[in-house]
Amino acid sequence: MSEAELVLRSTRVITPEGSRPATVAVAAGKITAVLPYDAPVPEGTRLEDFGDDVLLPGLVDTHVHVNDPGRTHWEGFWTATRAAAAGGITTLVDMPLNSLPPTTTVDHLRVKREVAADKAHIDVGFWGGALPDNVKDLRPLHESGVFGFKAFLSPSGVDEFPHLDQDRLARSLAEIAGFDGLLIVHAEDPHHLDAAPQRGGPRYADFLASRPRDAEDTAIAHLVAQAKRLRARVHVLHLSSSDALPLIAAAKAEGVRVTAETCPHYLTLTAEEVPDGASEFKCCPPIRESANQDLLWQALADGTIDCVVTDHSPSTADLKTDDFATAWGGISGLQLSLAAVWTEARRRGHGLEDVVRWMSARTAALVGLSHKGAIEAGRDADFAVLAPDETFTVDPAALQHRNRVTAYAGKTLYGVVRSTWLRGERIVSDGEFTEPKGRLLTRTP
Ligand SMILES: [Zn+2]
Repeated sequence: MSEAELVLRSTRVITPEGSRPATVAVAAGKITAVLPYDAPVPEGTRLEDFGDDVLLPGLVDTHVHVNDPGRTHWEGFWTATRAAAAGGITTLVDMPLNSLPPTTTVDHLRVKREVAADKAHIDVGFWGGALPDNVKDLRPLHESGVFGFKAFLSPSGVDEFPHLDQDRLARSLAEIAGFDGLLIVHAEDPHHLDAAPQRGGPRYADFLASRPRDAEDTAIAHLVAQAKRLRARVHVLHLSSSDALPLIAAAKAEGVRVTAETCPHYLTLTAEEVPDGASEFKCCPPIRESANQDLLWQALADGTIDCVVTDHSPSTADLKTDDFATAWGGISGLQLSLAAVWTEARRRGHGLEDVVRWMSARTAALVGLSHKGAIEAGRDADFAVLAPDETFTVDPAALQHRNRVTAYAGKTLYGVVRSTWLRGERIVSDGEFTEPKGRLLTRTP
């Protein structure tokens, strides 16, 4: 251990082989060794002993809408990355829409990177966007280091980011397959949405009926068929409908290159508990019934769903009106995602090893960040220190994201993040932040 600058010790270190007492040696921002708990620490080496608090790899959240620049009053890099750090997240990948400009050309990517550079408290990467008219921009964006491309199959909610019809989807996906890129998709079918009853108003039951499961199921079926035909790599974003799970499982078994994610709100909140008019619970696709939620958990356990990401998508509070049809759709989850998922996971008999697999290892793998997502030699020294059996009650005033609207207000959650570490430096500890130390990430070719 002679070259270590820092040594972290815990009786519970989550490694790819499981949880065990260990000592983790760090030098130059990297993990150099994972050693036995009682490994001798050379004199003069800084030792941080976390006792029985758990040392886990920093989470990698591949689905975050930062909205900066252009809608920074909704969310910006400074506030989003602080909220993430406070929640144990050390890497996020920013979605291409809701900022102005959207990340749909190399020039726009440059603008985004300039804005993020000195505000990032954690590491930040970028998705590109696939629009009906930017097929020619996809390869240059790929070569500029975006991690893949997002497309909508139904209206996105903002005019500057139009959706792809089936022909345009085929064209964009063929282009992306040409350089073996990744297409990530908001999968709701617009025809099924149009055919659903659109009553509007404050009743959650009416909103749920307006975004039916078959809109998701049909869009995913189309996507899987295109991926199969083109041998392309696709990823289903924010899966909510459990009815689509057999289709995804069958496609995977057949060798179609498809992965899927779900979100903390689908896993921890249910349609039955959403009060009428409470649009802080509005997102698309919607939070569904508790029986649906049980099947999502089962799919996580059996690997049909690969990972869990926040889809943190805030707006100003005034856009969260009590009419579900017109209120902004998006749930702010960065700071609470680990605690929310862990609380429900432990109730259902899952371990923290599972949570780490879904929220760190698999998300890092999704975007090819081979130096993130695990506590093992050679990876970045990114960690969260968690008191897993300690509870807290969610107080919106304690949240770091810009507009403190939350669907979790008043909930009691397990799992207090004591500190978060980025490349061997403690970036937040008991609510105290350092200056931003995040870096901007590009896809590894
Ligand atoms: Zn999203």
